Amino acid sequence: MNKERKLIIAGNWKMNKTVAEALDLVRGLKIELANVKEVDIVVCPPFTTLSDVSEAILDSNIRLGAQNMSEHNVGAYTGEIAAVMLKEFSVRYVILGHSERRQYQKESDELISRKAQAVHGASLKPIVCVGETLAEREGGQTEAVLERQLRGSLAGSSKDQMAETILAYEPVWAIGTGKTADAGQAQEAHAFIRGVLGKMFDETVARRVRIQYGGSVKPSNARELMSQPDVDGALVGGASLETRSFADIIKNSI
Ligand code: PEP
Repeated sequence: MNKERKLIIAGNWKMNKTVAEALDLVRGLKIELANVKEVDIVVCPPFTTLSDVSEAILDSNIRLGAQNMSEHNVGAYTGEIAAVMLKEFSVRYVILGHSERRQYQKESDELISRKAQAVHGASLKPIVCVGETLAEREGGQTEAVLERQLRGSLAGSSKDQMAETILAYEPVWAIGTGKTADAGQAQEAHAFIRGVLGKMFDETVARRVRIQYGGSVKPSNARELMSQPDVDGALVGGASLETRSFADIIKNSI
């Protein structure tokens, strides 16, 4: 597939996998995906498995991401994880503002923007998630919601920082539901997001930023989604938990 930007496909394992299960999955992926050069491959396991997974993928084309990070660098923040701790395990990417954290932990755009600054400050790359709920889509609010989330979550980001930022468009109604935005809906939202980036930064930044699609991506729909001009990869939940399905999503996207 001929793409303007290199595809980046990341697996968000959420709160799944013990160390033994994580190693099993990642060892399978290493074998299945050893020859893939066309896609940046990322796995985002739970914190408790980062150390072992990091070691297991050392000599591979798979990169490591975390699912969250504190906006603080050090101190009395019980239960939080700082950038310097992630860097000990060669983490390169950090998912920020996933809709589950926006919903259950009440994370705001303002907090996400501060976390993004901490991620950049540590020379890591944020994967910033945005997306509308079903009620917002049905109420004709999709574009207003996306623009508000982008302007809030990316507030304070410089053009240089944006070049290191990955965005993930994840319609909340498509996450873990088996419902996927069809390729046309995904392209429309991605093109809108790129337009907002053009207004917030400039055309060069807008053309450079990679925008992943997330929401029930599976081997059978990956190719059509990835073939859309403004879809530059995927953030995969459920289907990233099995070697076969995650590997097939990546292979089918090439
Ligand atoms: C996600 O949670 O980021 C996600 C896209 O999940 P799923 O692929 O399971 O819909």
